[in-house]
Amino acid sequence: MTFEEIKNDEQQYMMHTYGRFPTALVSGKGAVAKDVDGKEYIDFTSGIGVNSLGYCDEGWVKAVSSQAATLQHISNLYYSPLQTELSKKLCSLTGLDKVFLCNSGAEANECAIKLARKYSFDKYGEGRQKILTLVNSFHGRTVTTLSATGQDVFHNFFFPFTQGFDYVKANDINDLKKHISDDVCAVFIELIQGEGGVMPLSSEFVSEVSKICTENDILLLVDEVQTGVSRTGAVYCFQNYGIKPDAITSAKGLGGGLPIGACVCGGKLSEVMTAGTHGTTFGGNPIACAAALEVLSRVTTDDFVIEVKKKGDYICEKLLSMPNVKEVRGMGMMIGIVTEKDNAKEVAAKCVENGLLILTAKNLLRLLPPLTITYEEIDKGLSILKNTMEG
Ligand SMILES: *Cc1c(COP(=O)(O)O)cnc(C)c1O
Repeated sequence: MTFEEIKNDEQQYMMHTYGRFPTALVSGKGAVAKDVDGKEYIDFTSGIGVNSLGYCDEGWVKAVSSQAATLQHISNLYYSPLQTELSKKLCSLTGLDKVFLCNSGAEANECAIKLARKYSFDKYGEGRQKILTLVNSFHGRTVTTLSATGQDVFHNFFFPFTQGFDYVKANDINDLKKHISDDVCAVFIELIQGEGGVMPLSSEFVSEVSKICTENDILLLVDEVQTGVSRTGAVYCFQNYGIKPDAITSAKGLGGGLPIGACVCGGKLSEVMTAGTHGTTFGGNPIACAAALEVLSRVTTDDFVIEVKKKGDYICEKLLSMPNVKEVRGMGMMIGIVTEKDNAKEVAAKCVENGLLILTAKNLLRLLPPLTITYEEIDKGLSILKNTMEG
């Protein structure tokens, strides 16, 4: 098949939900992807923060293929040692107590939302169901997670949206205080707004939010779908802020390329879900669990986490000396670049022509390289970016 044939079939047979770059990727190794014409690309995207270990990592391939050859799926009517091992690991990594396994970020967030509402319903009865999220947040594409997403552009077409969300300005504690009322059951935040343009929350704001939540029995939920799994120089980003959320959600990088999500909750929320209150057919699929166990065993050691931070610092330093770079922000290897010329989309498209896969978020360039990217691959990618910025 040629690229043109693939593109035509996509036009004809797929819903037009994505604007795609003009390349069809067919294989990869490490941080290098190859397209249908044999052209190679340095990958600064890891499939939007998914391929934590890069393409076709040896250990990951072995874990996944050996599980596929052993037992690919059982229903959640039966026990699974992979599910329990993964859940135990997630609890020990987060200091939280209970896990629900699902298949995506939006699903993990749906679980967190249901948890918060049921906690409040069980304790206070009806009417205390409002969840505060942040302006400019992103929480997913289901009808309810679109509602949770604090951006008007997402609140269109699909009416009626789920009720019971309100939006607070990020880093504005007075705005949060204004929104606290008797009907609020939870505050749900990303610590670094990813899709919203790589915007880290200030630690003062986050500790104040945490304090207000504790004082009012309001749950603090953290969407770590993009920031989790060692992306930001801590296993989970809340650890960078020294807070203890009531629940966190994880997905993207968790399976290293297979669909898996998790909602992990602590203390007050541990016993909220009971048999029949939540579920999903594929949740905790053995192959996805085997993939996640491999990822976590590799990326959560102290040495690895320190290395992610070092690579992130190295990238940021190099970026700051590049033409057209106005500002660099983020944490670890979750990095956003504000360009002087405000031409991120254009640069990203030209980078693809020049052999570099790179993301955008709002009007920023965004980097989410595989966590295992080598310094050599980083240098190659940055040199393509530099040439593209100059061009
Ligand atoms: C990507 C993302 C989601 C949605 O995850 P899906 O797996 O696409 O459903 C939710 N929250 C954040 C912060 C994300 O970055």
